[in-house]
Amino acid sequence: MKILREPDARLIKEYRNNYTAHSENLRPLSFLVRIKEDDDTEIIYNILTGGAVKLSSEEFESEEKYLSDNLYLVPGDFDEYAFVDDLRFYYSLKNRSKSVINNYFIYPTTGCNARCFYCFEEGIAPRVMSDETALKTAEYITENSKEKPVRIKWFGGEPSMCMPTIKLISEKLHENGVSFTSKMNTNGYLADEEMIRNLYEICMLRIVQIPVDGVGEDYDTIKNYVDVPKNLSPWDKIVTNIGLFLDAGIQVDIRLNIGNHNKEKIPGILDELIGKFKDRKNFRIFPQVLNEGKYDFYSEEERAELFEIQKKAYVKCLEAGITIAQNRYSLPAFSLHSCFADDSAWVGISPEGRIYKCPENINNELYFSELGSSARDEEKIDMFYEKSSWESCKSCAFYPSCVNLKECIARQRECEECHRDFRLWKTERILRAIP
Ligand code: SF4
Ligand code: SF4
Repeated sequence: MKILREPDARLIKEYRNNYTAHSENLRPLSFLVRIKEDDDTEIIYNILTGGAVKLSSEEFESEEKYLSDNLYLVPGDFDEYAFVDDLRFYYSLKNRSKSVINNYFIYPTTGCNARCFYCFEEGIAPRVMSDETALKTAEYITENSKEKPVRIKWFGGEPSMCMPTIKLISEKLHENGVSFTSKMNTNGYLADEEMIRNLYEICMLRIVQIPVDGVGEDYDTIKNYVDVPKNLSPWDKIVTNIGLFLDAGIQVDIRLNIGNHNKEKIPGILDELIGKFKDRKNFRIFPQVLNEGKYDFYSEEERAELFEIQKKAYVKCLEAGITIAQNRYSLPAFSLHSCFADDSAWVGISPEGRIYKCPENINNELYFSELGSSARDEEKIDMFYEKSSWESCKSCAFYPSCVNLKECIARQRECEECHRDFRLWKTERILRAIP
């Protein structure tokens, strides 16, 4: 038997401390991914512990002690789904009692200079953060980060439309002695050398996420920017600006949107991006089915087709030596919480200074506090700790890695076969590549 990955010793300890075996009829844990190889061996990956082994069918019998000590085999009456729920519940209580907030989504504006047809901000009135709110934002961060390093995500709308606000917050944070770095979700169109220098030097920007749906005229049509000077190609400008960000030492994560509108063009878009930037350090791509969690956006067949295209796009990037951005190409692992919303260290701040638990949706009344006020609406906070799961989750091997929240706007229905198939495909591919 070959141990490909050691399991997480803390999880094994939790299991030993909290579970007393009542029966010893050992059976495989429900959270295993098992890949049968042609030579009578199999790779077994444990999503709960992160452990992986490669062994023959004989060894599966002879290594019973190792396999049960390390949670590949469990007593017949062990309820692993309840075990995961208990750990998450305990962690939620512990996490909520922490008072440090050192991760922030900041919305300098909800307005944008592009008009993508699929934008989630469509129909939302553009709002802009005032200088007064910017200064209050910096004070809030200084007070609540309790001298821990801070991470900021400039979000929107298009945050680069409000450079003075972003600079004001950053300068105030420097003045207050706060150590911070930042990321930005931007279309990149407005950037130039001076803006990028300010972003790097003053706003401590280290990563930008730039969405791409097409190249050349396709890009220009989909983005439909306002106020484009005659004879200027927005696509050419984006390509130039990606180069400028990279030159400045800022990592560029391209979000390659895949949808019905561009599905035939994905290989061509990748050829263009890879051809231009593959030798640049810090250039990354993550192919992503657009609005994949919104169920009325596609039929089940359409979604399945787009996920197949997404797989091919991953392979194309990996074969070209491009890193898949944002850790999207990684083994599924035990997760104690869902996202920013049920992590007490994160909040979102809207242009008018409202503070949200779900930092990705600040266009509602679910804010739990406001800048300048010490009042907190605990009921609204509670809403974002409430988990949800569906019937199919109760027999799903990915359960330890997958947490869904009742209030999440991004996922309101159980996943489809293509979601699970994509997870399994990635898992198998990564495991097979372990030497
Ligand atoms: S949402 Fe899907 S992948 Fe996640 S646990 Fe439920 S069935 Fe599995
Ligand atoms: S939209 Fe959903 S996944 Fe995203 S932060 Fe909000 S609750 Fe979490």
